[in-house]
Amino acid sequence: MKNPNIVILGAGYGGIMTAVKLQKSLGVNEANVTLVNKHSYHYQTTWLHENAAGTLHHDRTRIQIKDVINTSKINFIQDSVTEIKPDEKKVILENGDLSYDYLVIGLGFEAATFGIPGLKEHAFTIGSINQARLIRQHIEYNFAKYNNEADKKQERLNIVVGGAGFTGIEFVGELANRVPELCKEYDVPRENVRIINVEAAPTALPGFDPELVEYAMNSLEARGVEFKIGAMIKEVTENKLVFEKDEQREEIPTNTVVWAAGVRGNSIVENAGFESNRGRTPVSDELRPKGYDDVFIVGDCALLFNEETERPYPPTAQIAIQQAEHTAANLTKLVRGDNHLEPFKPDLKGTVASLGHDDAIGVVFDDKKLFGWSASAMKKVIDNRYLMKLGGPGLVMKKGKLNFFH
Ligand code: FAD
Ligand code: NAD
Repeated sequence: MKNPNIVILGAGYGGIMTAVKLQKSLGVNEANVTLVNKHSYHYQTTWLHENAAGTLHHDRTRIQIKDVINTSKINFIQDSVTEIKPDEKKVILENGDLSYDYLVIGLGFEAATFGIPGLKEHAFTIGSINQARLIRQHIEYNFAKYNNEADKKQERLNIVVGGAGFTGIEFVGELANRVPELCKEYDVPRENVRIINVEAAPTALPGFDPELVEYAMNSLEARGVEFKIGAMIKEVTENKLVFEKDEQREEIPTNTVVWAAGVRGNSIVENAGFESNRGRTPVSDELRPKGYDDVFIVGDCALLFNEETERPYPPTAQIAIQQAEHTAANLTKLVRGDNHLEPFKPDLKGTVASLGHDDAIGVVFDDKKLFGWSASAMKKVIDNRYLMKLGGPGLVMKKGKLNFFH
């Protein structure tokens, strides 16, 4: 009997961890495993806000795929997926086609822009190394340009971040550390620069522990971040952002809007014809979309309901990694002729969000609250633990966050 073809799409948390686990659990003669990714590297999406602010170089965030997969067991193809045809068991790439017996989709997220005029054209998003590098360069260019113009333009120094969810908050935390360095570098007075976080909900980090939200806002405000809370972004143009608060429209002149106000699953998955709910595909307990038992979806493209809360689990790296480990174990069973798959249940360990290099907030182990240095150290432990799982101690030494006292 011929070996089954397992094709994994995307080498984010979900895709690469599926590949790394399969290379350990399956022998070379059991299946042909192919991993497809746009770039030659895997990146830690959870560090992209640091690359975008310029507080961490992007080479620390990315890891060459060939450094963590065993190419004698996994066939790596660097290419872009353009279409999935589940009824034909086929994937179309920019430079060819692939047929599969089992497919794992881990194509990640894209920005949800909710049809807000001008966002797609004029706002930046923190979704890849390329996007993060562009934001860093754009901010730096505007600082450099400021003193080269006789007519000084305030919009060059107003940085507006849309959304005070975890991404928005983590990003303004990095900006608060980076801006004083940029001011020194480009001879710009710090008081001329504004970092403005605009949030539609009545609070920053809606749904999170109120005491920790207050801690976060105080820490950020003390470093010069301004909050506009209960302020709904309505429009973005080349040099301004418009929001509505208390039924009044207000404008902020700015050349730099970073949209961190929502994500959805990669539209390639929706376009494949799977059921879709706000851009994510509902999956069964075995992480399969309805009607397609040969397809598994891991990470941000999958929509899985938490029966206890009757709400979907949030799209997080933590869950993507666990789904990948689970899917690799289930695929190993299938390859060996065992069709009794285990249901997936996330083992949630908590949430920790950074507020810059040495400050953070978090709730871990059910209800233990952390803030300040201990939360920041915990965040580094979580990041290093992931690197350990992916590539062992060598990778932790090379890419890990070992500066606990910085
Ligand atoms: P991704 O990590 O997005 O990976 C998708 C992969 O698919 C990428 O490698 C991409 O290059 C590739 N790809 C995309 N399209 C194609 C294509 N057409 N062809 C080929 N390849 C393609 N979650 C946490 O749990 N903890 C955190 O601290 C945390 N921090 C975050 C900080 C930031 C700034 C952001 C933006 C998110 C954060 N998240 C965090 C959320 C987390 O990053 C996501 O939930 C996670 O990345 C989802 O993993 P994934 O594998 O589904 O997709
Ligand atoms: P999110 O959906 O969690 O937050 C988006 C925020 O933008 C919300 O607070 C929302 O009210 C606001 N918003 C939406 N439309 C708006 C508008 N028009 N004007 C102003 N504000 C608006 O998105 P996110 O922060 O990108 O997070 C995405 C996922 O990644 C979540 O599951 C999150 O938990 C996860 N994440 C986790 C961490 C961490 O654990 N440290 C860090 C970043 C992201």
